[in-house]
Amino acid sequence: MSETRDPRAIRLPAVHHVLATDGGRVAAARFGHEATVGAVRLALSRWREAVTAGGAVAPDPAAVACEAAALLEAESRPSVRRVFNLTGTVLHTNLGRAVWPEAAIAAATLAMRHAIALEFDLETGGRGERDDHVRGLVRELTGAEDACLVNNNAGAVLLVLNALSAGRDAIVSRGELIEIGGSFRLPDIMQRAGARLVEVGTTNRTHLHDYERAVSANAGVILKAHTSNFIVQGFIAAVPATELGALARRHSVAFVHDLGSGALVDLGRYGLASEPTVRDALAEGADLVLFSGDKLLGGPQAGIIAGRKDLVRQVAKSPMKRALRLDKVRLAALEAVLKLYRDPDRLPEALPTLGAFVRPRAEIALAADRLRGVVVAAVGDGFAVQVADCMSQVGSGALPLETLPSAGIVIAPVTRKGGGTRLDALATALRRLPIPVLGRIADGALVLDLRCLDDEAGFVAQLASLELSDDQGGSDALA
Ligand SMILES: *Cc1c(COP(=O)(O)O)cnc(C)c1O
Repeated sequence: MSETRDPRAIRLPAVHHVLATDGGRVAAARFGHEATVGAVRLALSRWREAVTAGGAVAPDPAAVACEAAALLEAESRPSVRRVFNLTGTVLHTNLGRAVWPEAAIAAATLAMRHAIALEFDLETGGRGERDDHVRGLVRELTGAEDACLVNNNAGAVLLVLNALSAGRDAIVSRGELIEIGGSFRLPDIMQRAGARLVEVGTTNRTHLHDYERAVSANAGVILKAHTSNFIVQGFIAAVPATELGALARRHSVAFVHDLGSGALVDLGRYGLASEPTVRDALAEGADLVLFSGDKLLGGPQAGIIAGRKDLVRQVAKSPMKRALRLDKVRLAALEAVLKLYRDPDRLPEALPTLGAFVRPRAEIALAADRLRGVVVAAVGDGFAVQVADCMSQVGSGALPLETLPSAGIVIAPVTRKGGGTRLDALATALRRLPIPVLGRIADGALVLDLRCLDDEAGFVAQLASLELSDDQGGSDALA
């Protein structure tokens, strides 16, 4: 510490001198005076530390302005950033799930920009209900008597259990006490909803008599939850929904089916595995069906509650509905998405998620062939770059076992020694691109599954700026 300098002896430029430089003026014009002054002060304090510690010389005003501008630039970059989802998981919960169709974006933009008749009946001039905008569509598309909407499907489960089963028994099979991820655990939600959880059966087998024994005068609901993110195989038994529905009716208990993803059309018609539709679940005897807006439906985050009119009314009048209601922007988007379902033949072109599911492997492989060369040029000769088949997933717990034959670019280090570190450095560098590129690491290689790449030009344009460190340790040189 012998070269440490007395802070009082250090002469740094005054703030107003920094602001008076060209760089200072440009920064103030762009980011505002106050923010620029703050950034200049921060830059000066850093210089003071560096000079005090020795080794650095006092900067000139232009250098401080330059640093302040860099700080402001970094701060101004949005935290919510677009990425290229090349993970192979189409509905990736951590990447925002469904991307919206153009019709939904237009409807949402309109609702953001203008006053809208949200809870206003334009015929009578009286008050309307926000859910009216999509109630009819949900009825038409599912056969339900009525519907209401909340923030998401977890909210739908919470609201329905609270409204129909608070202080009463909610009966559910032990095989369906699910955790969805992100700490959504069905038993915890039931508890918070004020319902008493009555578990029946065992993990692998639950029979009708298990439910029969549990249904008492204190029962509020029988809940069936779609085990959407796992599969139990072997010695198993579950009670078909039709039988649960009949049981519930015999005892005047509500039968609620949490479908999770909730397809509105039979995906089999598009060559995908069939997932039970909302219409099927209702036809099988569910009094209420709960499902998400941003999973297979391909729209905005939302929880949709569809089914018996009296029960929907009861749920909708709960005070908790107000706390969970859908905002105008997503409501507008959801209406637009549901309208697309009226023309199922053209749904794959109109709905980006469905378009991604049905994208043929051969078409994806052609994209991989087109892009291989630019990837080779970007990653350099430390990596072998190949076009290869891979498997995409639907994601978000929908169709858990269904994999979609896909193709991608597989990038592997040419030498095994230090390969893992270099692969991590490559993944980091790709994440640091202006539009971060997210792949998946498998078998010592980085796989870029191109199923969801919808902007090849944008992908190519930025690859030239990939900065791969030569240093194997990596991250400093990339910072
Ligand atoms: C995904 C899922 C939920 C939660 O839905 P969100 O819309 O994410 O809140 C609830 N239940 C099941 C069965 C699910 O698959």
